[in-house]
Amino acid sequence: MSSSLAWITDALQALKNEGLLRSRRVTRMLPDGTCEVDSRRVLDFASNDYLNLAGDPRVIGAAMEALRTGTVGARASPLVSGRSEWHERLEQTIAQFEEQPEALLFPTGMAANVGTIAAICGAGDLILCDRANHASLVDGCRLSQSQMRVYRHDDLTTLERELKKGDSVRRRWIVTDSVFSMDGDIAPLADLCDIAEQNNAELIVDEAHATGVIGENGRGACEALGVEDRVAVRIGTLSKAIGAQGGFVSGPANLIEFLWNRARSQIYSTALSPAVCAAATAAIGIIRAEPWRRHRLEVASEFFRTQLRLAGVETVATSTGPIVPVILHAPEAALNVANRLENRGFLVGAIRPPTVPRDTSRLRIVVTAAHQDADLTRLATAVFEEVTAARAE
Ligand SMILES: *Cc1c(COP(=O)(O)O)cnc(C)c1O
Repeated sequence: MSSSLAWITDALQALKNEGLLRSRRVTRMLPDGTCEVDSRRVLDFASNDYLNLAGDPRVIGAAMEALRTGTVGARASPLVSGRSEWHERLEQTIAQFEEQPEALLFPTGMAANVGTIAAICGAGDLILCDRANHASLVDGCRLSQSQMRVYRHDDLTTLERELKKGDSVRRRWIVTDSVFSMDGDIAPLADLCDIAEQNNAELIVDEAHATGVIGENGRGACEALGVEDRVAVRIGTLSKAIGAQGGFVSGPANLIEFLWNRARSQIYSTALSPAVCAAATAAIGIIRAEPWRRHRLEVASEFFRTQLRLAGVETVATSTGPIVPVILHAPEAALNVANRLENRGFLVGAIRPPTVPRDTSRLRIVVTAAHQDADLTRLATAVFEEVTAARAE
């Protein structure tokens, strides 16, 4: 090894000393929604497979059918020759589901955020970005070379003040998650729309954790809060409730054509696997045909919150829905409690900086439509016992 990389060893040691080193593990997903980690069978409360569709036989069957009649890789950028009938059908399916004229696929949700923001925002623009926004939104803002201002989470006063300062800029934008990925709370989208309209700004909303999960038809938080017509750009992912992989933007034809021409993350990357497109198309069909999935998810999420409260565990007061954070502050505490829960058969996320702010390391427990009430009750008790035991140490 070249000694010029010795600094990396020091940097890793520094991360380790702060309890922030991340390790790689192998998780084996099983078709029944459980998984195996280090050869131990556990219930999975760490995925974003909210509607339990990633392992659905119909979704897997659709992927297999595409594989049987085609190729594994798309073999080229969508622009050149990678866009197959599976891609076109999925784009049409997304557009219909979202009730938008058109949709465009991206390799991932991350690529959708980075590529879209970098394409439509640019030098001379002002972007206001919530501090709790997903890293991919932040990276898109940076890459766009716009002036970026970060406002404290949900701090609408600062947001408005900073927007007003930008009177000499070309265009103004507000960029936000609709459901925040680590707190599980919903952005005040109606207020953000009011502020945008009063200050000649446009809204870009990332529905990654809301698509399929909330709204009368499962279109997300913009639908749930009645602001779909007031949001300029809506971005989504196929990798969470839809159970597949990929990202998308849905909207008017001119926006989609512009992104097709200018969004570098989809132009300069091979198109999604046709099998993944077939799977996502099938999954969206199931989401439309089986609204009981998101109703069950809502009931199960509320049930779990109630069980946690009865057990004496606090969650983030503003959080709603399937993302249930339990703040433990120190990174070591989050890891320790997550390990203890794993030993008892529950896999939960341990989330540390820089994903969340300093001193807010947490368990991120995700309820899905696959979870049974009895498991949720057992987990709530286990969380209480292990948090208490860890504090006593
Ligand atoms: C997961 C996530 C993404 C990225 O989606 P991928 O499809 O996994 O790349 C984007 N935005 C938010 C808010 C997310 O939580």
